[in-house]
Parts: sequence; structure tokens; C-alpha cells
Amino acid sequence: MSRVVYINGELVPQEEAKVSVYDHGLLYGDGVFEGIRMYSGKIFKLWEHIVRLYRSAHAMMISLPITPEEMEQIVLDLCRKNEVVDGYVRITITRGIGLGLDPRGVKNPTVIIMTDKLSLYPEEMYQEGLSVVTVSTRITPAQSLEPRIKSLGKYVANIQAKIEANRSGAGEGLMLNTEGYVAEGTGDNVFIVQEGALITPPTYVGILEGITRNTVMGLARDMGIPVEETLFTQFDVYTADECFLTGTAAEVIPVVKVDGRAIGTGLPGEITNRLIEAYRTLTKTEGV
Ligand code: PMP
Repeated sequence: MSRVVYINGELVPQEEAKVSVYDHGLLYGDGVFEGIRMYSGKIFKLWEHIVRLYRSAHAMMISLPITPEEMEQIVLDLCRKNEVVDGYVRITITRGIGLGLDPRGVKNPTVIIMTDKLSLYPEEMYQEGLSVVTVSTRITPAQSLEPRIKSLGKYVANIQAKIEANRSGAGEGLMLNTEGYVAEGTGDNVFIVQEGALITPPTYVGILEGITRNTVMGLARDMGIPVEETLFTQFDVYTADECFLTGTAAEVIPVVKVDGRAIGTGLPGEITNRLIEAYRTLTKTEGV
């Protein structure tokens, strides 16, 4: 079955879905996006993703021609039309068409919504855990780019970081901020467990405020597990009892080795496994 792509109010067959070579998203990375997940025909945390998208766009002074409620309906309709059951929805908004970086002449944002299959970590990685390396590419400092904006441009650094991780055969790259504090994975947030408590970097370290991160923090609190947002370094990761990553695509995935050091017992930790289970249950029960 050929899928359709939503572009500025029109549904276009996937093969014919194209944007202008003058698009500011293409020319300058001037845009924002969201990656959303559908489980068994229901979209998980759709409203949270739409809220983050509209906040990102507002902060970048990109005003969208449709309301968040209309966006929600368009996404739901597109998923039905493309018969998505388990898959991925990608919303991309760019400032629009215009050559030259001055945004004043760029008036009409480009709105693109696509659905696709998800390329996932294989199930054995959830059972056995990932090996991760710290990469040399630092996250873009918050002084240069507000990290809570999920901007297209932010990902140049993350792609460089992913290249580094791939070159050393690691499952994911761990990124530090310019001060050397642990920040996030190239496409996920990071957690460690120490003495029964969950610790994750605060957003001001320069990370994306992940929707999965927030969901997992909520699940942990419901389970009576203390949660702290605190700065920490590679040493704290190496000496943690457990470590895991969270993200829309990765879900909750254990990390068992970082820079060649075994984390805890070297196997996925008990709290990590409980959170994986609780998260999976939630994805089966929640959604629109
Ligand atoms: N950090 C980065 C850099 C990401 O790209 C993502 C994926 N969107 C995340 C964290 C996790 O965010 P979420 O849980 O909202 O997918």
C-alpha cells in the first residue's frame, strides 16, 4: 500500500511528496519537529508531543496556520488513512520558503506529517542491555540554542555524535555538555540508579525535556522510587548500580556497559526492568 504524506493541507502520495529547494528548513535547519509513536492503533502521548511542538515553534517565532486541536485531528486522520497500527509519526514544521537567512520575508510555514515503520532496537538489547560510549561531540550549549526547542538544527551535533558511536560499535553515544556534565544520548535521555533512587540530569544542563523521561519519572514516583534531577559526571555513571536510556523510539532500554566499564552487575538492573515493564503496560493501555 502506498502511503500519503500531509503537506500544507494536502495529502500527497509518498513518492511525490516534495518541498521547495528554497525551504528554510533545508537551507538553514530552521524548523522544529516531533517523533511520535503508535502502539496497536493508538497514538501514545500525542497531546504532549503537540504541546512541545507548538512551544518549540512559538519560541522560534514560527506561527502555525492550524491550531493544536486541528493538528491532533490531522495526525489521527493521517494514521487511519495510512492504516498505521504500530509505527511512527513524524511532524516537521519549517519557517517556510525564502533564500537568505533574515526570517522577515519568510511568511508561510511548511507543515509536513509523515507516517512510517519504526526501526527499533532488537528485543535482545532490552534483555541484555546496550553498550554505550561517551562521544567527543558536546551538546550545543544552552546559551546558543535553547535545548527545550526540538529544532532541526540541533541535530547536526547529534548526528556527528551518532557517527562517533557507530564507529566504535556502540549501541548509543553518551553526550556531555561543554562543562563535562552528563547530558543525554544522541536521541534519548539518560538515567542512573544509585542506592535505589533514580537520577537524571536537570533540563538546564542543556537537554531535551523528553516526554518518555517525564513519563518514566512519573512511573517511578508512583512505584515509590525517589527521583532526583541532579548534575552528574561520567564517574557517577561508571559507579552507578544501574543505567538506562529513555526515548519515544528507544522506550526504556538498559545500559550495561559505558566506555568499557560494566555498570552494576553488568546486567540490566532490577529497577530498570520494573520500569521497562511499567512503561510497556502504559503503552498498551494509554493513547488516542
Ligand atoms: N534527547 C534527544 C536529543 C532526543 O532526540 C530525544 C528524542 N526525541 C530524546 C531526548 C527523548 O525525547 P522523547 O522521550 O520525547 O522522545
